[in-house]
Amino acid sequence: MSDTFKAMVIEDKDGKQKASIKDLTVADLPDNDVLVEVSYSTLNYKDGLAVSGKGIARRLPMVGGVDLAGTVLESASDEFKPGDKVVVNGFGLSELHWGGYSQKQKLKSDWLIKLPDGFSMQEAMAIGTAGYTSMLCVLALEKAGITPDKGEVLVTGAAGGVGSVAIALLAKLGYTVVASSGREETHAYLKKLGASSVISREETMGKGRPFDKERWAGAIDCVGSSILASVIAQMNYGGAVAAVGLAAGTDLPTSVLPFILRGVSLIGIDSVMASKEIRKEAWARLAQDLDKSIFDDMITVEPMSNLPALAEQILKGQIKGRVVIDVNA
Ligand code: NDP
Repeated sequence: MSDTFKAMVIEDKDGKQKASIKDLTVADLPDNDVLVEVSYSTLNYKDGLAVSGKGIARRLPMVGGVDLAGTVLESASDEFKPGDKVVVNGFGLSELHWGGYSQKQKLKSDWLIKLPDGFSMQEAMAIGTAGYTSMLCVLALEKAGITPDKGEVLVTGAAGGVGSVAIALLAKLGYTVVASSGREETHAYLKKLGASSVISREETMGKGRPFDKERWAGAIDCVGSSILASVIAQMNYGGAVAAVGLAAGTDLPTSVLPFILRGVSLIGIDSVMASKEIRKEAWARLAQDLDKSIFDDMITVEPMSNLPALAEQILKGQIKGRVVIDVNA
């Protein structure tokens, strides 16, 4: 039985998706060109949806895990050879393709990038999709011309994975960052990451009007719904908002006024299908701009067996920072 390994498999049980740890063999894995021995995966909001059976997996059985870091064991691709350390973020893992909650996985070489210089596998997974997406947001604000001298930048859903890394990156780059969080107990943590001040969700809402007093030069919104609408309403003239998340909902009750009277930009961020060039740019900038000392306060490492409980917690907004999953623990 030494050929078997553990994986978190989502299956149909009486019409409901249910995740459990199973023994698999390499023969069970998808027919992709690179076999990877996985060291670490992560917990993202989307993983919470998948593991708790909220319909993210679009084919069953599915192995969860949006991210993975590991070592190539076999490769039919010229781009990778045994021993290479690699990372995958997104590309439909855990939705359409088997993902990182497995001690071994077969993946398409197109999805892999080499482990970025300067990061261990555990650090790369501490960043994971959430952190790499934070960098996509920062790049989007930079490309929209939001420089640190333009004014304060707001991050909503601040104590989550995307928000935490975004705050650290923006602060290191010289921005004045205001964190919006619904959890008072996270305020000290957010300030340590680099937030100059922390405001509540209620304060973020302002007067809840579709066009409000100018307040922010830039914003990264992890939350969506009426909070995003309020943020858009409070943008300075020429400001830009990177819309990345939906923790509060998928709706957006806004008006055209901030766009046509203040030239506000709303920039959509997608990490899942971003090109390899964009991924490499984001990881190179993470290596340059992320202060790794933030990991001390930000990371917890958990075994795969704790995933069902962790999934419930992330969906309730109870996870602080980033959870790394040690698939071999
Ligand atoms: P987390 O769960 O770690 O963070 C989300 C944060 O949002 C929570 O920590 C909480 O922050 C806040 N929040 C939760 N529920 C609510 C609510 N009902 N109302 C207002 N705020 C709430 O998730 P991630 O950081 O991993 O992801 C953040 C969002 O970004 C998710 O919606 C995720 O799906 C999305 N995402 C999108 C990607 C893309 O490619 N576009 C890639 C990665 C993530 P606090 O307690 O501080 O208020």
